[in-house]
Amino acid sequence: MKVAVPKERRAGELRVAASPETVKKLKGLGLDVVVEQGAGLGSSITDAAFEAAGASIVADPAALLRDADIVLKVQRPLASGEGELDELSLMKRGALLFAILNPYNSRDLVKAYADAGVNAFAMEFMPRITRAQVMDVLSSQANLAGYKAVVDAAGEYGRAFPMMMTAAGTVPPARAFIMGVGVAGLQAIATAKRLGAIVSATDVRPAVKEQVQSLGGTFVAVENEEFKQAETAGGYAKEMSDDYKRQQAALVAEHIKKQDIVITTALIPGRKAPILVTREHVASMKPGSVIVDLAVEQGGNVEGAELGKVVTTTNGVKIVGHANYPSRIAESASLLYAKNLLALLQVLHDKEAKGILVNWDDEIVKAIALTRDGAVVHPAFAG
Ligand code: NAD
Repeated sequence: MKVAVPKERRAGELRVAASPETVKKLKGLGLDVVVEQGAGLGSSITDAAFEAAGASIVADPAALLRDADIVLKVQRPLASGEGELDELSLMKRGALLFAILNPYNSRDLVKAYADAGVNAFAMEFMPRITRAQVMDVLSSQANLAGYKAVVDAAGEYGRAFPMMMTAAGTVPPARAFIMGVGVAGLQAIATAKRLGAIVSATDVRPAVKEQVQSLGGTFVAVENEEFKQAETAGGYAKEMSDDYKRQQAALVAEHIKKQDIVITTALIPGRKAPILVTREHVASMKPGSVIVDLAVEQGGNVEGAELGKVVTTTNGVKIVGHANYPSRIAESASLLYAKNLLALLQVLHDKEAKGILVNWDDEIVKAIALTRDGAVVHPAFAG
C-alpha cells in the first residue's frame, strides 16, 4: 500500500505529516512511503532525511496522489477554487485521508470528500480515552501552543519575567494570568513559572483547581453551583449561563488590572470561543502588558484581538492574535503530529495483509470517520 505525504499548501502552514522516524516505522509495517519534494522544509526536514529513512521523493503532486491508498496531511486538502491546486480531485476513490480537517468550519468539504469517494478521518475528533491518548492531536499540538504563547508574550514584553535583584536596582517579577486551563493552559502555566513569573489561572471546570495549584499557580474563579457542574462527560467545558459570565467578568475585572501577561486558551468544542477579556478589561491594564489570544481562530477570547496581527491599543497593551500556533513551533509540532498519525496507523494495521484495514466498528474509527464509500457517516454532518 502506498502512503503519500503531500507538501502542506494552506497559507502559513509549516508542519508536515511525517518525520524520518515515522517513515521508518511505516516502512516496517510493509507500507511504501512517498513524500512530496520539499514537504518537510518548513519543519527543517530535508528530502535527503526522508530518503535516508526509506521514503521516495516525488516532485509532482498529481503523481504523488494518483495511486495513493493513504494520504497523510496536517490540514485539509485544497478543493476546487481554493488555491493553486485542487488536491482533493487528485486523490483516487477509496483513498484514506487522515488530517486535521476542521469540518465544523468547512462543512461543504465534508460533502466533497464523500463525492470524491475519499474516506476522510478528522484527527481532531480523536476520543479522549486512554487507548487513544497517543493519537490525540489536539493535546500534542495544544501543549506546544501553550508553551509558544508564553515565549511569544515574553518576546513582546518590554520587561523581564523573573524578579532580578541587581546592584542597579530590582526588577519586579511579571504577573501572568492564564485563562482556560486545558492542555495549552497547563503548559502555559508551567512555562510562565519556569520563566519566573507569578502565575494565576482561571477555568470553569472544578477539576482544574488542583492542577493549577500543583503547578504553583493561584486559582481564580467564580466557584458557584454552576461551576461544580461545568464539565461534560467528555472532559470539556460547557457553555456557561449569562449570569455566570457576568460574575466571571466582574472577578476578572478586579484581577486583570494587576496582570502584565494574559494568555487566553478557552474553547468550547463546536462553538465560538467565549469572550473572557472585554475592551474594558483591556483598558484597565497597564501600558506594556501583553495578551496572547490562542482562541483567536475560533472567534477569540479577547475583544480587539485580530487574527494574524499584533494590535497595540491606545493604552499601550499589546494583543497578540497569531494564527496557527502549532505551526509557529513547526519542528516539534510535526514530530509529535507525525507520531499521532503513526500510532493510529499501527492500530489500523493488519499483520497478515501487511496493510491498513479499517475496522469501522472500532470506537476510535467511529469517532473520527467523516465519510465512508461515498457517504457522509459522522453523525454531526450526515443528513
Ligand atoms: P479546550 O481546548 O477545549 O479548552 C481549553 C480550556 O478552556 C478548558 O480547560 C476549558 O474548560 C476552558 N474554558 C472553556 N470555557 C471557559 C470559560 N468560559 N471560562 C474559562 N475557561 C473556559 O480544552 P482541552 O485542552 O482540550 O482539555 C479539555 C480537558 O480534556 C482537560 O481536562 C484535559 O486534561 C482533558 N484531556 C483528556 C485527555 C485524555 O483523557 N485522553 C486528553 C487530552 C485532554
